[in-house]
Amino acid sequence: MRPILIVDFEATCWGPDTLPPSVPAGRAYASEIIEFGCALMTRPDRVERTWQTHVRPTDNPLLSDFCTELTGIRQDQADAAPYFIDALELFRDEFGIRGGAQPRFASWGNYDRNALLDECAYRNVEYPFRDDNHVNLKAEAVKALGLKRRMGLSRTLEAIGLAFEGRPHAGVDDAWNIGRVVMEMFRRGWKPPVKRPGS
Ligand code: AMP
Ligand code: MG
Ligand code: MG
Repeated sequence: MRPILIVDFEATCWGPDTLPPSVPAGRAYASEIIEFGCALMTRPDRVERTWQTHVRPTDNPLLSDFCTELTGIRQDQADAAPYFIDALELFRDEFGIRGGAQPRFASWGNYDRNALLDECAYRNVEYPFRDDNHVNLKAEAVKALGLKRRMGLSRTLEAIGLAFEGRPHAGVDDAWNIGRVVMEMFRRGWKPPVKRPGS
Protein backbone atom coordinates (compact mmCIF):
# COMPACT_ATOMS: atom_id res chain seq x y z
CA MET A 1 0.00 0.00 0.00
CA ARG A 2 1.23 3.49 -0.81
CA PRO A 3 1.76 5.20 2.57
CA ILE A 4 -0.92 7.62 3.70
CA LEU A 5 0.26 10.65 5.62
CA ILE A 6 -2.58 12.23 7.55
CA VAL A 7 -1.87 15.89 8.30
CA ASP A 8 -3.90 18.17 10.53
CA PHE A 9 -2.83 21.78 10.90
CA GLU A 10 -3.67 24.15 13.70
CA ALA A 11 -3.51 27.85 12.99
CA THR A 12 -3.77 31.17 14.82
CA CYS A 13 -7.40 32.10 15.36
CA TRP A 14 -9.61 34.58 17.16
CA GLY A 15 -12.93 34.12 18.90
CA PRO A 16 -16.27 35.49 17.74
CA ASP A 17 -15.93 38.53 20.06
CA THR A 18 -12.60 39.64 18.61
CA LEU A 19 -11.94 41.55 15.43
CA PRO A 20 -9.52 39.30 13.50
CA PRO A 21 -6.33 40.96 12.22
CA SER A 22 -6.33 42.08 8.61
CA VAL A 23 -5.11 39.67 5.95
CA PRO A 24 -1.57 40.60 4.87
CA ALA A 25 -0.91 41.28 1.20
CA GLY A 26 -0.13 38.07 -0.66
CA ARG A 27 -2.17 35.84 1.59
CA ALA A 28 -5.60 34.28 1.47
CA TYR A 29 -5.99 34.01 5.26
CA ALA A 30 -4.83 35.94 8.31
CA SER A 31 -4.27 32.64 10.14
CA GLU A 32 -0.75 31.24 10.33
CA ILE A 33 0.02 27.55 10.83
CA ILE A 34 1.12 26.86 14.42
CA GLU A 35 1.13 23.05 14.47
CA PHE A 36 1.80 20.20 12.07
CA GLY A 37 -0.04 17.17 13.48
CA CYS A 38 0.74 13.98 11.55
CA ALA A 39 -0.16 10.29 11.53
CA LEU A 40 1.53 7.88 9.11
CA MET A 41 -0.19 4.73 7.85
CA THR A 42 1.75 2.16 5.85
CA ARG A 43 -0.78 -0.61 6.45
CA PRO A 44 -4.55 -0.48 6.43
CA ASP A 45 -4.88 -1.83 9.96
CA ARG A 46 -2.58 0.38 11.97
CA VAL A 47 -1.23 3.86 12.45
CA GLU A 48 2.51 3.38 12.33
CA ARG A 49 3.42 6.55 14.20
CA THR A 50 2.41 10.07 14.96
CA TRP A 51 4.58 13.16 14.78
CA GLN A 52 4.12 16.83 15.49
CA THR A 53 5.91 20.12 15.51
CA HIS A 54 4.65 23.45 16.67
CA VAL A 55 5.38 26.48 14.51
CA ARG A 56 6.24 30.01 15.57
CA PRO A 57 3.92 32.57 13.97
CA THR A 58 5.44 35.86 12.77
CA ASP A 59 2.61 38.20 11.73
CA ASN A 60 0.64 37.74 14.93
CA PRO A 61 3.10 36.15 17.34
CA LEU A 62 0.78 36.48 20.35
CA LEU A 63 -1.73 33.64 20.50
CA SER A 64 -5.22 34.70 21.54
CA ASP A 65 -6.64 33.09 24.67
CA PHE A 66 -9.33 31.69 22.39
CA CYS A 67 -6.67 29.99 20.26
CA THR A 68 -4.84 28.49 23.24
CA GLU A 69 -8.12 27.18 24.65
CA LEU A 70 -9.15 25.73 21.29
CA THR A 71 -5.86 24.09 20.32
CA GLY A 72 -4.13 23.63 23.68
CA ILE A 73 -1.05 25.37 22.23
CA ARG A 74 0.52 27.69 24.82
CA GLN A 75 2.42 30.90 24.14
CA ASP A 76 5.71 29.44 25.43
CA GLN A 77 5.39 26.50 23.03
CA ALA A 78 4.79 28.83 20.08
CA ASP A 79 7.71 31.05 21.15
CA ALA A 80 10.09 28.07 21.33
CA ALA A 81 8.97 26.52 18.03
CA PRO A 82 10.75 26.72 14.66
CA TYR A 83 9.53 29.18 12.04
CA PHE A 84 7.38 27.75 9.26
CA ILE A 85 10.15 27.24 6.69
CA ASP A 86 12.23 25.29 9.23
CA ALA A 87 9.22 23.31 10.45
CA LEU A 88 8.46 22.41 6.83
CA GLU A 89 12.02 21.08 6.41
CA LEU A 90 11.63 18.96 9.55
CA PHE A 91 8.35 17.63 8.15
CA ARG A 92 9.91 16.82 4.76
CA ASP A 93 12.83 15.02 6.39
CA GLU A 94 10.60 13.11 8.79
CA PHE A 95 8.46 11.65 6.01
CA GLY A 96 10.91 11.62 3.08
CA ILE A 97 8.98 14.16 1.05
CA ARG A 98 11.65 14.94 -1.53
CA GLY A 99 10.23 14.72 -5.04
CA GLY A 100 9.82 11.25 -6.57
CA ALA A 101 7.87 8.87 -4.42
CA GLN A 102 5.91 10.64 -1.75
CA PRO A 103 3.22 9.50 0.64
CA ARG A 104 -0.38 10.43 -0.05
CA PHE A 105 -1.26 13.68 1.69
CA ALA A 106 -4.59 13.08 3.41
CA SER A 107 -6.63 15.39 5.60
CA TRP A 108 -10.10 15.84 7.02
CA GLY A 109 -11.55 18.23 4.43
CA ASN A 110 -9.66 20.60 2.16
CA TYR A 111 -8.80 23.12 4.86
CA ASP A 112 -5.35 21.65 5.51
CA ARG A 113 -4.37 21.54 1.84
CA ASN A 114 -5.46 25.15 1.35
CA ALA A 115 -3.69 26.26 4.52
CA LEU A 116 -0.45 24.63 3.36
CA LEU A 117 -0.72 26.08 -0.16
CA ASP A 118 -1.31 29.56 1.26
CA GLU A 119 1.44 29.34 3.86
CA CYS A 120 4.02 28.06 1.33
CA ALA A 121 3.12 30.80 -1.19
CA TYR A 122 3.31 33.49 1.48
CA ARG A 123 6.66 32.25 2.85
CA ASN A 124 8.06 31.77 -0.63
CA VAL A 125 8.85 28.10 -0.21
CA GLU A 126 7.99 25.27 -2.55
CA TYR A 127 4.76 23.40 -1.82
CA PRO A 128 6.07 19.94 -0.84
CA PHE A 129 3.48 17.74 -2.53
CA ARG A 130 2.57 17.09 -6.15
CA ASP A 131 -0.58 18.93 -7.24
CA ASP A 132 -2.69 15.82 -7.61
CA ASN A 133 -1.56 14.38 -4.31
CA HIS A 134 -4.35 15.03 -1.85
CA VAL A 135 -7.11 12.87 -0.44
CA ASN A 136 -10.08 14.56 1.19
CA LEU A 137 -10.96 11.99 3.83
CA LYS A 138 -14.04 13.89 4.97
CA ALA A 139 -15.52 13.39 1.50
CA GLU A 140 -14.25 9.80 1.19
CA ALA A 141 -15.79 8.86 4.54
CA VAL A 142 -19.34 9.55 3.34
CA LYS A 143 -19.47 6.54 1.02
CA ALA A 144 -16.95 4.39 2.85
CA LEU A 145 -18.88 4.59 6.13
CA GLY A 146 -22.39 5.09 4.75
CA LEU A 147 -22.83 8.53 6.31
CA LYS A 148 -25.71 10.77 5.25
CA ARG A 149 -23.40 13.70 4.57
CA ARG A 150 -19.95 15.10 5.29
CA MET A 151 -19.44 15.44 9.02
CA GLY A 152 -16.88 16.74 11.47
CA LEU A 153 -14.34 14.36 12.93
CA SER A 154 -15.97 13.94 16.35
CA ARG A 155 -19.37 13.23 14.81
CA THR A 156 -17.83 10.72 12.43
CA LEU A 157 -16.10 8.89 15.29
CA GLU A 158 -19.45 8.78 17.11
CA ALA A 159 -21.14 7.40 14.01
CA ILE A 160 -18.75 4.42 14.05
CA GLY A 161 -19.01 3.94 17.79
CA LEU A 162 -15.68 5.43 18.81
CA ALA A 163 -14.89 8.14 21.36
CA PHE A 164 -12.33 10.86 20.60
CA GLU A 165 -8.95 9.97 22.10
CA GLY A 166 -6.99 12.96 23.40
CA ARG A 167 -7.92 16.56 22.86
CA PRO A 168 -10.03 17.73 19.90
CA HIS A 169 -8.31 20.54 17.94
CA ALA A 170 -4.85 19.46 19.10
CA GLY A 171 -3.30 18.75 15.69
CA VAL A 172 -1.53 15.49 16.53
CA ASP A 173 -4.57 14.15 18.40
CA ASP A 174 -6.80 15.11 15.49
CA ALA A 175 -4.43 13.26 13.12
CA TRP A 176 -4.42 10.15 15.34
CA ASN A 177 -8.20 10.10 15.50
CA ILE A 178 -8.48 10.60 11.73
CA GLY A 179 -6.23 7.53 11.47
CA ARG A 180 -8.70 5.55 13.58
CA VAL A 181 -11.47 6.54 11.16
CA VAL A 182 -9.33 5.54 8.17
CA MET A 183 -8.68 2.10 9.71
CA GLU A 184 -12.45 1.62 9.96
CA MET A 185 -12.87 2.78 6.34
CA PHE A 186 -10.31 0.15 5.26
CA ARG A 187 -12.08 -2.52 7.34
CA ARG A 188 -15.22 -1.74 5.37
CA GLY A 189 -13.45 -2.17 2.04
CA TRP A 190 -12.46 1.42 1.23
CA LYS A 191 -9.88 1.87 -1.51
CA PRO A 192 -8.00 5.19 -1.68
CA PRO A 193 -8.95 6.98 -4.92
CA VAL A 194 -6.63 6.41 -7.87
CA LYS A 195 -5.73 9.54 -9.79
CA ARG A 196 -5.58 9.70 -13.58
CA PRO A 197 -2.27 8.46 -15.01
CA GLY A 198 0.11 11.35 -15.38
CA SER A 199 -2.00 13.68 -13.29
P1 AMP B 1 -9.16 21.85 13.59
O1 AMP B 1 -8.25 20.94 12.83
O2 AMP B 1 -10.58 21.47 13.56
O3 AMP B 1 -8.64 21.94 15.00
O4 AMP B 1 -9.08 23.29 12.96
C1 AMP B 1 -7.91 23.84 12.41
C2 AMP B 1 -7.86 25.33 12.68
O5 AMP B 1 -9.07 25.94 12.25
C3 AMP B 1 -7.72 25.72 14.14
O6 AMP B 1 -6.37 25.71 14.57
C4 AMP B 1 -8.27 27.13 14.09
O7 AMP B 1 -7.35 28.04 13.57
C5 AMP B 1 -9.42 27.00 13.12
N1 AMP B 1 -10.66 26.68 13.83
C6 AMP B 1 -11.20 25.47 14.04
N2 AMP B 1 -12.34 25.53 14.76
C7 AMP B 1 -12.51 26.84 15.03
C8 AMP B 1 -13.50 27.61 15.73
N3 AMP B 1 -14.54 27.01 16.31
N4 AMP B 1 -13.35 28.95 15.80
C9 AMP B 1 -12.30 29.56 15.20
N5 AMP B 1 -11.34 28.92 14.53
C10 AMP B 1 -11.43 27.59 14.44
MG1 MG C 1 -8.30 19.95 11.20
MG1 MG D 1 -6.98 20.08 14.21
